[in-house]
Amino acid sequence: MVIRTNSDRLKKYRRMIVALLASEGNHQCSVCMVNNHCELQNLAYDVGLLYVRVPYLYPKKETDASHESFIIDRNRCVLCTRCVRVCHEVEAAHVWDIAGRGIDCTIVADLNAPWGSAESCTSCGKCVLVCPTGALVKKGESVAEMEKHTEFLKYIVTARRKGEWISFENNEE
Ligand code: SF4
Ligand code: SF4
Repeated sequence: MVIRTNSDRLKKYRRMIVALLASEGNHQCSVCMVNNHCELQNLAYDVGLLYVRVPYLYPKKETDASHESFIIDRNRCVLCTRCVRVCHEVEAAHVWDIAGRGIDCTIVADLNAPWGSAESCTSCGKCVLVCPTGALVKKGESVAEMEKHTEFLKYIVTARRKGEWISFENNEE
């Protein structure tokens, strides 16, 4: 069996998927706290995305700054569900869920309450660390200042697959 993972056709499809993600949200990198520390931005560079052919949707989704330490800007969310999974599977708080369908899909805290009033949140910050974009950020950081620490995800995968709760610095998998 021959498996191709990097043909011209695949590159074209990957570029289209990243373009659709970019067009669906508001991703103005120049005014984003995670500019140059963003996985979506890195993906766009990797696939050679120079322009977006489809119309931008410019959604007007809710930004919630009610939490004392963090902010969620749903306009920058790519619905990867990392926040939902890390909060449920690692922190065991299960603050986040997905509400709505299709283009109205959005991340909600505690059955659609303001994040700041979500009693289930322990303020651990894990969801903020694993969010690939500027949708979840720490308060008080300026543009391009906040770094994400998605290496934590490998630790989660090992914990789930092997039941081993090891330091993620030692996790080479
Ligand atoms: S800060 Fe921690 S407990 Fe609160 S929503 Fe994020 S992962 Fe869940
Ligand atoms: S981790 Fe970030 S981008 Fe992914 S679903 Fe949560 S808020 Fe959206």
